[in-house]
Amino acid sequence: MKLGCIADDFTGATDLANNLVRSGMRVMQTFGVPQTPLSKDVDAVVVALKSRTIPAKEAIAQSLDALQWLQAQGAEQIYFKYCSTFDSTPEGNIGPVTEALMEALDCTFTIATPAFPDNGRTVFKGYLFAGAVLLNESGMQNHPLTPMTDANLVRVMQAQTKRKVGLIDHTVMAKGTAAIAEKMKQLEAEGVGVAIVDATSNEDLKTLGPALKNRPLVTAGSGVAIGLPANWNLHASASAATLPKATGFQAIVSGSCSMATQGQVAHYKSLGLPSWQFSPLSWSTHDVPAQINSNVAQALAWAQPLLSKGPVLIYATTDADTLQQVQAKFGREQAGEWMESALAQVSLGLLELGVKQWVIAGGETSGACVQALNISQMQIGPQIDPGVPWCFAPEHAAGHLTLKSGNFGTPDFFTKALKNLAETCS
Ligand code: ADP
Repeated sequence: MKLGCIADDFTGATDLANNLVRSGMRVMQTFGVPQTPLSKDVDAVVVALKSRTIPAKEAIAQSLDALQWLQAQGAEQIYFKYCSTFDSTPEGNIGPVTEALMEALDCTFTIATPAFPDNGRTVFKGYLFAGAVLLNESGMQNHPLTPMTDANLVRVMQAQTKRKVGLIDHTVMAKGTAAIAEKMKQLEAEGVGVAIVDATSNEDLKTLGPALKNRPLVTAGSGVAIGLPANWNLHASASAATLPKATGFQAIVSGSCSMATQGQVAHYKSLGLPSWQFSPLSWSTHDVPAQINSNVAQALAWAQPLLSKGPVLIYATTDADTLQQVQAKFGREQAGEWMESALAQVSLGLLELGVKQWVIAGGETSGACVQALNISQMQIGPQIDPGVPWCFAPEHAAGHLTLKSGNFGTPDFFTKALKNLAETCS
């Protein structure tokens, strides 16, 4: 293994893995730190944690665990991946985890940049832009868990770390790889431990890549990944994304209520394809688990005769108004947990009915379903839409799956994904 990656959430891990595959690496993603050695010969492994918003101490412990496993598998360089909107608070977890990894790797200098120009995230003079606006005007200032009220990443990072934070700005980037490497050395000599790096285009990221060669630790969003495989003489090729042949029945399980997913469900239904919807608003508040069991049984009985004819959609996705009513009735967290458990049970039932091609919509929903399907590792295949690849779970019967986080994907994503699978894995 060449590159060992630690991602602070599941769908972000897939996003990183996808960028690495597109740049020529064969990649496995694991859910949590594996208990066993790597089962396949690959160039990179992304260990997906759920450490973005847990207490910093726990995030550090989990990240160091992941580091140890990756080192035991022979990782030559470590990549700590966080969100392209730098989701964090003054308590962490980007700063504390970076610091802990630096210490463990005996590393005195690293970079930090969430730049991902393909998704509109750019860094200029140390300020992070989301699309055309500064981060703190992008809506991220109202994020429920990690409100980002300052777009200046030097300040944001400095608030989270004892190491001195510096900047490699666009004027250095414009001078090329040698100038970037020289600036890194200069900052390091000045006692800077972490340098925010400006990047406004993929070209910047490709220029940055070679300057990171032989650096033990890189911290970044998923964008920087496009410049790293070339350090091992790996270049974009379709073969890195090759997955085994797809078999079994097809199902779409959707628990995301994001606008994009609502559009995808509507588009799928408009094609006259079969769908079954959970209606939690019709549940009485008494003994909800029993009602869920009964709904799951209904959904599976409905799906069984249809599966041999083509894909089925089973979903909880609903509009904001209905969602609000459900949350008012059962409580936001409880409603979410119940729906996740219902969809997880549905996926387990569908697995038993022979489904081996899965489209799963929703970050939390994906986590719940992957856990129910007992998937701990997956090989990353061809991209369907930016940030969303097909994957293959090699360990057991689960087969091919794509995990789509809420706002990703075009309106025809569900049918497009299955068509893409038929074309690339037949
Ligand atoms: P996204 O990636 O769009 O954020 P998630 O799966 O992460 O999607 O989150 C959606 C949450 O909403 C999940 O906890 C899911 O169980 C919950 N949910 C989905 N449909 C409903 C519904 N009809 N009523 C209440 N909660 C729902």
